[in-house]
Amino acid sequence: MASVGAVVAVVLLGSLLRPIRRALRHRAKAAATANMDFATTLTESAAVALEIRVFNVQGPIVARLTRRLAEVTLRTRQVLFLRGVTPVLYSGLAFLALIAGLYGASTMERPGLVSVGAVMLLMLRSLSYGQALQTSTATANASLPYLDEIDSELERLDAAASPIGGSTVGQLGPVSFDSVCFSYDGASTTLRNLNFQLREREVVGVVGPSGSGKSTMVQLLLGLREPTVGRVTAAGREVASIDAHDWARVVTFVPQVPRLVAGTVAENIRFFRDGVSEGDIIAAARLANLHDDVISWPDGYQHEVGEGGSRLSGGQMQRLVIARALVEQPQLLVLDEPTSSLDARSESLVKETLARLGQQMTVVVIAHRLSTLDICHRIMVIQEGELRAFDTPERLADSSDFYRDALRISGISP
Ligand code: ADP
Repeated sequence: MASVGAVVAVVLLGSLLRPIRRALRHRAKAAATANMDFATTLTESAAVALEIRVFNVQGPIVARLTRRLAEVTLRTRQVLFLRGVTPVLYSGLAFLALIAGLYGASTMERPGLVSVGAVMLLMLRSLSYGQALQTSTATANASLPYLDEIDSELERLDAAASPIGGSTVGQLGPVSFDSVCFSYDGASTTLRNLNFQLREREVVGVVGPSGSGKSTMVQLLLGLREPTVGRVTAAGREVASIDAHDWARVVTFVPQVPRLVAGTVAENIRFFRDGVSEGDIIAAARLANLHDDVISWPDGYQHEVGEGGSRLSGGQMQRLVIARALVEQPQLLVLDEPTSSLDARSESLVKETLARLGQQMTVVVIAHRLSTLDICHRIMVIQEGELRAFDTPERLADSSDFYRDALRISGISP
């Protein structure tokens, strides 16, 4: 009877505290949202620190951060209060239940000391387990919103998973787009019916107005996204069927803004890939026109790049990220305007590098500057998600109206 009484008491106490648990879950969700908003605002503000100083808007920024922080404080206080009050309420109610249990035991016909002791022991043990259960539930409830957020982020990640499969590449061969269409949202079409082939060892420039779909096309080329309709193939095999590691070795990308990690030049070229030897690093640096700069430093390849590459020039950083891309001897190199932030000498060094690389591999350059097109064998004009022209600069110049127009629309020439 005492056991039954203890179980009933624990269940009863649990259901009495249900409204508090519900309130806690609700407040914890609000606190999680406030925390994440604050973190986003803080990161965002740090990223535009220079602009904040330049436009002298520290006041509104601080006010915005303070508002977010006040929200975090309020919500966190509410959660902490509810989490703190749950065990206190529980133990109060538990003592009441204990007294009721003792009363029950005392009304038994022969309330011996042993039975009263047994009832007390049972009640105390089960109520303290009940309390532990309540505390754990309260902690779990407070953390649930973060877990939900992680779940939804994981779902988003899975939905955007790169579609690359299991077969090996070997020789890349020509890369073809066959009737490729792409839509981000399933409603509007970003790329329309792209048909072209990249030959081996050619330098291709991609031009087009901002928002025309150049980056999206490059993402399909890199195998980061799958066409909504049509096929992207390399040597006759669909990119989606190729092994991710193998693909990453033969196809590589250099972003517009070089990003370096804290460490040495060698570490930045190797970039966490274990199989890369010292010899590979030097060969890649030579190919990227960086080697001479490196050996002019007393510590050579052990030269520290500084935070974000602060101890290197813009041109050296750009050539370093090209060396990083070249270290595994890719067969297709894609670059997003690698010369946009460089001085004239660095620009000519990078262009010389690209022209030389074009003799060994296929190079695709998203070109925002007219001068980058000098080194291209063929130029692709993308407008409104369509491939409007793909020809040699000479032929495009022959049909000069279109070429000039394309360049003008691309914002490349005046
Ligand atoms: P470009 O590189 O030529 O400037 P993009 O390929 O970046 O053009 O963009 C083409 C179109 O696709 C634009 O209208 C852009 O707003 C849209 N877009 C780009 N990335 C995304 C994305 N991740 N989600 C939804 N739409 C996007």
